[in-house]
Amino acid sequence: MSQCRGVPPGIPHSDPPVTPPLSPDSRGPVNVVLVGPPGSGKGTQAVRLAERYEIPHISTGEILRAAVRAGTDLGRQVADTLAKGSLVSDDLMTDLVRARLGEPDTGNGFVLDGFPRTVAQARALDEVLGPSPMMVILIEVPDADIVRRMGTRRVCDSCRLTQSVADVFHPDTEPCPYCGGNLVRRPDDEPETVRHRLATYAQYAAPVIAHYRSRPSFAVVDGLQHADKVAAAVAALIDRLLSQQS
Ligand code: ADP
Repeated sequence: MSQCRGVPPGIPHSDPPVTPPLSPDSRGPVNVVLVGPPGSGKGTQAVRLAERYEIPHISTGEILRAAVRAGTDLGRQVADTLAKGSLVSDDLMTDLVRARLGEPDTGNGFVLDGFPRTVAQARALDEVLGPSPMMVILIEVPDADIVRRMGTRRVCDSCRLTQSVADVFHPDTEPCPYCGGNLVRRPDDEPETVRHRLATYAQYAAPVIAHYRSRPSFAVVDGLQHADKVAAAVAALIDRLLSQQS
């Protein structure tokens, strides 16, 4: 599943120069975990990393939302939790991620977006990966900017691309510039749910970050920069860590 970079078609933008990545055959696995508050741009950056390093983007939120849309057992189990903006249980999430990381397309690595969200999940991920190297990148954005961003975030109900509209009062009937579908607000992007998600993040994120902070493969990136700049900073960090591993 791809998500848009938040830049409408027709508006020129160029990524700052970054060196071409090593091909999957000439490097070890690129196992990346993106951490950061809701709306910090993890999804946008994860899509770019997936393209650059030829690895799957695993968004736990998207897996759960797809299950809700499809009306599967999992979807029925988590629908209320998602609607409230609370956390799904650690056991369920850990089983789901363990199974997903066991699939063959993760052989060259993966970019995880939305997991781990608790220390129990972080410990479970350490166990699943064992000695395989993992890079953890925290995308930092202050709460006030998050609330503003979430107000303008929309998702296309047809192609599922996430994008930004001009202002919070933008009508939810605007067509998607990519496929003509309807741009709608994610139900959990309503202001009250956003506040609850931010409070949940504030409660659980600090211990998760503390779990990783002392590792040499942990890094922080300023998520307030333009998405292209964040992408360049993240790629430079990963390339440096990869060169240290080889
Ligand atoms: P956000 O934009 O808040 O980062 P996500 O798309 O990552 O949103 O997740 C949406 C919702 O899915 C969360 O509010 C939560 O209910 C559920 N969820 C996703 N990942 C996890 C996880 N690792 N642990 C518990 N709940 C999760």
